[in-house]
Amino acid sequence: MTEHEHVRVAVIGSGFGGLGAAVRLRREGITDFVVLERAGSVGGTWRDNSYPGCACDVPSHLYSFSFAPNPDWPRTFSGQEHIRAYLEHVTDTFRLRPHIRFDCEVKMMTWDAEQLHWDIETSSGRLTADVVVSAAGPLSDPKIPEIPGLDSFPGKVFHSARWDHDYDLRGKRVAMVGTGASAIQIVPAIQPQVGSLTLFQRTPPWVMPRVDRAITGAERALHRTLPFTAQARRGLLWGIRELQVQAFTKHPNELGFVEQLAKRNMARAIKDPALRAKLTPDYRIGCKRILLSSTYYPALAQPNVDVVASGLSEIRGSTVVAADGSEAEVDVIIFGTGFHVTDMPIAERIVGAEGRTLAESWKDGMAALRGATAAGFPNWMTIIGPNTGLGNSSMILMIESHLNYMADFVKQLGVLGGRAALNPRPSAVAGWNQRVQERMKRTVWNTGGCTSWYLDANGRNTTIWPGTTTEFRRATRQVNLAEYEVLRAPARPAEDAPVNGKKTAEVEA
Ligand SMILES: Cc1cc2nc3c(=O)[nH]c(=O)nc-3n(C[C@H](O)[C@H](O)[C@H](O)COP(=O)(O)OP(=O)(O)OC[C@H]3O[C@@H](n4cnc5c(N)ncnc54)[C@H](O)[C@@H]3O)c2cc1C
Repeated sequence: MTEHEHVRVAVIGSGFGGLGAAVRLRREGITDFVVLERAGSVGGTWRDNSYPGCACDVPSHLYSFSFAPNPDWPRTFSGQEHIRAYLEHVTDTFRLRPHIRFDCEVKMMTWDAEQLHWDIETSSGRLTADVVVSAAGPLSDPKIPEIPGLDSFPGKVFHSARWDHDYDLRGKRVAMVGTGASAIQIVPAIQPQVGSLTLFQRTPPWVMPRVDRAITGAERALHRTLPFTAQARRGLLWGIRELQVQAFTKHPNELGFVEQLAKRNMARAIKDPALRAKLTPDYRIGCKRILLSSTYYPALAQPNVDVVASGLSEIRGSTVVAADGSEAEVDVIIFGTGFHVTDMPIAERIVGAEGRTLAESWKDGMAALRGATAAGFPNWMTIIGPNTGLGNSSMILMIESHLNYMADFVKQLGVLGGRAALNPRPSAVAGWNQRVQERMKRTVWNTGGCTSWYLDANGRNTTIWPGTTTEFRRATRQVNLAEYEVLRAPARPAEDAPVNGKKTAEVEA
């Protein structure tokens, strides 16, 4: 048998989720853990998405850890480089670097039902771990649609999350595919320098103005000297969003007046009625993510921009062809087509107790108990898993809720003693998901008349949390042991005395 390292906890990923997990484990007194990161630095989303104009849609004082406030945010909505710098700062402040293995991609991990641990194969060797916390990110693997002819396109092709900064866009004929959150930030950032910009839009988004401004030196000084003022600011930003979410989850019909505001926002910049018609959504606002931008519509009104209200369907040489038959010659195609969300690649790499991958177990749709644990995958949890996404607030709130759950999970295992594992009961997972889906029925995401990346191939919403962040915080405060079966194995030879002489893992009634 080859020698390998064994750790109490292995965390996958070093974005907000993985770094938050590392901080929390240390706070709980657990130092026997590693963070496995496939890239060469921390940051996750905010390392990978460096496209021009990349910024957060949630104000920075809310989109940051509650335990690591930053009084020096430069803008109300900070840009990618500031958020990335913040995560580097968190890594140093909490002395996380010794725990992180960079360039270490998890290739496969398999549950060892006898030893009650995970056997993890990485790009830089093998290790085993009692517990795995997967923080591989809900939006971390870019998705490029299969377009006939793409392979033979002679020009440049890249995805918004893998921006090629060596490629000079000045004067180029650009095709931008998609009109989601990334695309609407990219378009105004590149429009002034490109020769032409053909924008392929399958479904127009609802766009509201972005009230972004520099945070003044006086405000920053105030937050530095009187930290409770930064907390109050965060509290206010959070409270407003907690109230807003009621309209999305319970009263979608009351969102009509928000649509009027969005239409007025468009009319201010777009004077051409034909273009306005192309850009006006035919579904309820909120059904797809509401996008924030004060520069998107003005950019679309410029003479070098052509909005094609149709998807990209084919590529012939350097000609891009839309589903409606319109054509354009281009030098470069940029895909702003999102991520593998409901078909996460990491799920293909996790083999559970029954020898099935998580992807196979989720073939009819993702489902996890409290968005965190899956039946048949003992001692494994995911940070911001199924049905934890938010339409209007900060994902850091959801991540911190899951950090509470993770801390209690590890604590409960410690209390059980010996070598133990927690496997969620299928009935608990099913019950949780039934309740979530029941609540989902009347939300704007399911009733608003759109298709979106929130829905999986079966039309089920397995991504969004249909409630307030407070409700989620309450639901994940502690692990309810009644929802789990406890598995036990004999102690390792070097550990304490064997548990009742049991030779293999056994289930405790
Ligand atoms: C462009 C963009 C804008 C966004 N804007 C907002 C916003 O305004 N507000 C908001 O609340 N949320 C926003 N989000 C969502 C954002 O993803 C979350 O807020 C949060 O950053 C997720 O953190 P995470 O740690 O879970 O995942 P990530 O930040 O994606 O980190 C996952 C990490 O896991 C690593 N990894 C993945 N697979 C493996 C593997 N097999 N082995 C080893 N390492 C692996 C990745 O390299 C990555 O570093 C945005 C997302 C994107 C893409």
